[in-house]
Amino acid sequence: MKMSKMYIRTLRETPAEAVLPSHIYMLRTGMIRKLASGIYGFMPLGKRVLSKVENIVREEMDLAGAQEILMSALQPAELWEESGRWNAYGPEMWRVHDRNDREFCLGPTHEEIFTDIIRNGVSSYRQLPVNLYQIQTKYRDEARPRFGLMRSREFIMKDAYSFDRDEEGLEASYQNMYHAYSRVFTRCGLVFRPVEADNGAIGGSASHEFTALADNGESSIVYCESCDMAATDERAECVDAKPDGAEMLPLEMKETPGTKTIEAVADYLHLDLKQTIKALLYEVYNDDGSVKEYVAAFLRGDHEANEVKLCNALGIPEHALAFADEEKMAAVTGCVGGFTGPVGLKNCRIIVDSELPGMKNLCAGANQADHHYINMNYGRDYTADMVVNFKMIKEGDPCPVCGAPVKMTRGIEVGQVFKLGTKYSSAMKAVYKDENMQEHEMLMGCYGIGVTRTMAAIVEQNHDEDGIIWPVAVAPYHVIITVMKAKDAVQMELAEKIEAELAGRGVEVMLDDRDERPGVKFKDADLIGIPVRITVGRRAGEGVVEYKLRKDADKVELSVEEAVSAAADFVLGELKAHSHEAVADL
Ligand code: ATP
Ligand code: MG
Repeated sequence: MKMSKMYIRTLRETPAEAVLPSHIYMLRTGMIRKLASGIYGFMPLGKRVLSKVENIVREEMDLAGAQEILMSALQPAELWEESGRWNAYGPEMWRVHDRNDREFCLGPTHEEIFTDIIRNGVSSYRQLPVNLYQIQTKYRDEARPRFGLMRSREFIMKDAYSFDRDEEGLEASYQNMYHAYSRVFTRCGLVFRPVEADNGAIGGSASHEFTALADNGESSIVYCESCDMAATDERAECVDAKPDGAEMLPLEMKETPGTKTIEAVADYLHLDLKQTIKALLYEVYNDDGSVKEYVAAFLRGDHEANEVKLCNALGIPEHALAFADEEKMAAVTGCVGGFTGPVGLKNCRIIVDSELPGMKNLCAGANQADHHYINMNYGRDYTADMVVNFKMIKEGDPCPVCGAPVKMTRGIEVGQVFKLGTKYSSAMKAVYKDENMQEHEMLMGCYGIGVTRTMAAIVEQNHDEDGIIWPVAVAPYHVIITVMKAKDAVQMELAEKIEAELAGRGVEVMLDDRDERPGVKFKDADLIGIPVRITVGRRAGEGVVEYKLRKDADKVELSVEEAVSAAADFVLGELKAHSHEAVADL
């Protein structure tokens, strides 16, 4: 394709709102175009990459035995009411209504829709298992849309849903998708890690996130080099310290003027943070946004709270928990901002981290301004409504499996696989009859890949200061032929000959025939990130061109034949190395 005929608009300047390389480069190459906050369109080069990622996903899903369908983004509220999520989903759901005031949402996900399809279409065990998927646009009104395609309000997801007759079947479906995901991300050229993930109130260990490793990633993962533990920080258990065997000393109130933070108290009383109790004050909301209850959560002063674990313990979605308005909470519970402790609180739920009962003689707020208690002991001085392990694990903490110090790294969640069990089939009555005409609820799994986020993750892992370095498997074109002087007939003729020969071997070529200075063309080629560049210049008459890979610094002069062979061998070799056959064992 001739660049002079293509709709491409590259930008020299970095758009102000973009901070991550993937966002910056996709905007600068004109691959994506912002329409509104968190809403992007795909321009020709971007659409080509998107289609390639989609096709890898599609091929792996098809080969894994899932069948593609396509459902509407618009979903009637009734189905969500059946599952109980219409009210529970929270502000991320994009709600709309029609002219007759019938309510719909723009689907953030499709569990209800797929469950409805299957409960209507499947009645016998003979029809199971079944796995349906789609590659489709999702809508989530994210609180903080950012980083371009990484966290957007409209994005493309591949979502698959499996239906099985029993646990064993679900396990097989889950493993099948898990391996298909490993193949997808390997073929996309990503360095990634599947990690155990939180699966909310459902329980069990049946969810994995596929995390593309990247310093800029929003996910934090924990792993152990001594065993194979790997999990999201939200999922990983932070091991309790050993109970200390000290004698209980008498409870004593101390004046601690102005010590509103746990660090200030520890400093003032010359205590180690490990001898202190930190208070976190929350409010829990009803579906209508009113305050349902107050929660005071206590943990050792040197720990941070894992709010996902708190929500799971409370059986509430994450959006139903927020830090409390301290003044309002004080009026109800008697807490005192900065001086809150577990002794003397009323009208609120007290949650204590599982480590605290084993620890003796701690310091905590006295629920009186400028006062703390010392020598506070669980059982004798305070108790809890719930004792829960809700500490956030951190680098160097003992591995919950083997005890060795854990490591942490960051990444981008590009996919997640999930065992749902009977959550939806039970609420929506998706049942089948077995051999004896007995009715059973189906067991479901759901499996998502963020297709557009994967595209961003690929750029995060494949770029330098000049632009993107696309892996061949997803590059918008494989080769760019840069013609130094497009008005020179000899150069253009040779370029077109190379284009035709490469095209004949199945290589996708873009030909930069624009009337621009060579410097501009080289800059654009680097920015766009086409894997191979062949430059046709002043030695065109002798049949000599320059050959360069985007990922390498060196360039060589080659004869036309050599350059064509080198380009075709490299491209076809890379495509083969990232084909289904090459990764079939994963
Ligand atoms: P996150 O924790 O990042 O908000 P999630 O766990 O809510 O994501 P899922 O419901 O598991 O997301 O959706 C499946 C996949 O869709 C995710 O693994 C991710 O790759 C992608 N995805 C989710 N939200 C977004 C978004 N706002 N923008 C782009 N991709 C997204
Ligand atoms: Mg997820």
